[in-house]
Amino acid sequence: MLIDGYGRKINYLRISLTQRCNFRCLYCMPKVPFTYQAKENLLSYEELFLFAKLCIDKGVDKIRLTGGEPLVRSDLEIFIKMLTDYKSDLDLALTTNGYLLKDKAKALKDAGLKRINVSLDTLKPQRAKLISQIDMLDVVIDGINEALKVGLKVKLNCVPLKNINDDELCDLLEFAKSKNMQIRFIEFMENEHAYGQLKGLDTEEIITILKKKFNFTPSFKEANSPASLFCLDDGYIFGIINPHKHDFCESCNRIRLSAEGFLIPCLYFDEAMSIKNAIRNNDINKALEILNNVLENKPEKNRWQSNIKSARSFSQTGG
Ligand code: SAM
Ligand code: SF4
Repeated sequence: MLIDGYGRKINYLRISLTQRCNFRCLYCMPKVPFTYQAKENLLSYEELFLFAKLCIDKGVDKIRLTGGEPLVRSDLEIFIKMLTDYKSDLDLALTTNGYLLKDKAKALKDAGLKRINVSLDTLKPQRAKLISQIDMLDVVIDGINEALKVGLKVKLNCVPLKNINDDELCDLLEFAKSKNMQIRFIEFMENEHAYGQLKGLDTEEIITILKKKFNFTPSFKEANSPASLFCLDDGYIFGIINPHKHDFCESCNRIRLSAEGFLIPCLYFDEAMSIKNAIRNNDINKALEILNNVLENKPEKNRWQSNIKSARSFSQTGG
């Protein structure tokens, strides 16, 4: 079992497969101010698998593949199959912008993937283009429909932004509900890479908007989930993720691995240690030593209150 320095049980690994992305979302990477890592600097699927196996053997039973945009990395289904062959009951999920999903959904499902989260901030094509800087809405909706058709469980992620999509939150919830998908509204997380003029909505503001149309009450909280869940009168459940709250951290059960091999204990801190050489040298003991070191130094809580932001982009960390 993996335990961090504050006694939290760590059973969840998030792997950022690439920093690259085919979108340029205003809240994530409106420009590409950094140089992408050359391909040879990224861990291969075999190398990622070696580390994932180590974590699984130590009790990790949940892995999320993210990025950047994970589907721009070729043959992702091969990596998914490696993971699901190793542990068939692994809770394996993928977060994607959905742009390449239509063609990939079946291969992902066949490889053993069961769940995906798709980012969807608007149902208006021009707005979608404004937010992601690519004309993508129809393609993403087709991708969502295909994923549902092949039997993937789909959740939607939406980042509510003032004067950009805050008039659409009820429509987005209706859309998600109509397709039996849970939607989770994620409070915008300020970061150095986001477009500077953005203002996010906080949980209270999101609730106020949704209350104009829906009756709902707080629902149960899933163990270790960062989302607060709410239940409409008809039983439909949606979530709000408030990373600015510290109770988010008290039950944190995750570590992150970046595509270039940095083991990152917390999204909000720059501190990270590389496991790349250990993995490339097949030195599992060294990799385990680094993992334990990172866990020992995992911060107790995020630091929104002190207003210090991590310089690392979310696309690199694996948001
Ligand atoms: N490219 C994939 C996608 O967009 O779903 C996966 C990576 S993206 C970094 C993961 C999630 O982080 C997305 O749901 C995105 O909306 C969210 N995200 C990115 N930047 C954010 C920010 N500044 N505040 C809140 N959520 C953010
Ligand atoms: Fe790409 Fe996802 Fe970041 Fe948007 S949020 S730029 S889709 S990594």
